[in-house]
Amino acid sequence: MRPSISVLGTGLMGSALVRALRTAEYPVVAWNRTRARAEPLAECGARIADSVADAVAASDIVITNVLDYGSTRSLLEDEAVAAELDGTLLIELTSGSPDEAREATAWAESHGARWLDGAVLATPDLIGTREAALVISGDPDAFAEAEPALEALGEAIHVGTAAGHANAVDAAVLSMMWGGLFGVLHAIAVGQAEGVDLEMLEARMPSAFAVIGQMATDLARRTAAGRFDADEETLSTVLTHAGALGHLRAVMDASGIDPAVVNGYGHFFGKAEAAGRLDADFAAMSTFMKAAD
Ligand code: NAP
Repeated sequence: MRPSISVLGTGLMGSALVRALRTAEYPVVAWNRTRARAEPLAECGARIADSVADAVAASDIVITNVLDYGSTRSLLEDEAVAAELDGTLLIELTSGSPDEAREATAWAESHGARWLDGAVLATPDLIGTREAALVISGDPDAFAEAEPALEALGEAIHVGTAAGHANAVDAAVLSMMWGGLFGVLHAIAVGQAEGVDLEMLEARMPSAFAVIGQMATDLARRTAAGRFDADEETLSTVLTHAGALGHLRAVMDASGIDPAVVNGYGHFFGKAEAAGRLDADFAAMSTFMKAAD
C-alpha cells in the first residue's frame, strides 16, 4: 500500500506536486496558509488539512514547498507541530541555499525528524513527467524510502549525503541557466544593433548550443581531473577565447550595448593573463573564479 504523503504549501509548485502524487494514487493530505488555494485540490482526491499539525500527524512523509526556508521553519516550529515530528520523514522542496539546508537538517534532527533536502529543477507544468528533475540530498536510506513517491514527481536524483548538496546543485544549475540566457539576450542585442534578422539568429542557436554542450562536458571532466594545461585533446586555449572576446566587445562598444556582463568575462581573462595562463586550456578559467585558498 502506498504511504500517505502530506504536502505543506500549495502554491503553483505545491499544487503540481499534490496533483502528480494523486495521479500516482498516493493518499495525499494538503495544507496551505491560504486555505482557498488548497481547496481545488480536493477535486483530485487530496484531503485538505485544517492545520499544519493535522497534516504532519496524518503522514509519515511530509513534503514542504513554500516561499523560503524561513516560512518552512515558522510552520514547523509551532509547538503542536514540533510535537508531531518525531519519526517523520520531512522532504524540503522549497528552494534555498546550502547553509539553509544544513541548518534545517540540524533543526529537524534535533526534533527527532529525518530530513531530506531537495530542489525542483523544473516548472510546475513539467511535474509528473520525466522532464522534471528533483535533486535530493541527505541520508541514502531515507532517500530509498521516499524514492517511489519522488519518482511520481519526476526524475529523482540523489546527489549526495551532505545536506547542502541539493541546493548547491540547484545554484549551479541556475548559474548555467543565467549564463546561457544572458548570452542569448546579448546575442539578440547585438543582432538588433546590426539589423540582423532575429529569425535567422534563432536558426543559428542549435549549433551554438551544440558547441556549448560539448565544451561544458569537457570543462567538467578536465576540471575533475585537474587537466588545466593545454594538451593534445584541448578544444581551445584561454587565448583563443580572450581574442574572440575582443570581436564581441568591438561590436558592443560601437553600438552602445551595455557591456556590464561582458566586462565580467574580461575581468577573468585579465586574471589569466596576469597569471601567465593564456596558453592554458580554457578549463583553467575556473581556477580564477575559486575563493582564495
Ligand atoms: P507560489 O505560487 O508563490 O507559492 C508560494 C507558497 O508559499 C504558497 O503556498 C504560499 O502560501 C506559501 N507561503 C509564502 N509565505 C509563507 C509563510 N510565511 N508561511 C506559510 N506559507 C507561506 O510559489 P511557487 O512557485 O509554488 O514556489 C514555491 C517554492 O518552489 C519556492 O521555493 C520556489 O523557489 C520553488 N520552485 C518554484 C518553481 C516554479 O517554477 N514555480 C520552480 C522550481 C522551484 P499562500 O498561498 O498562503 O500565500
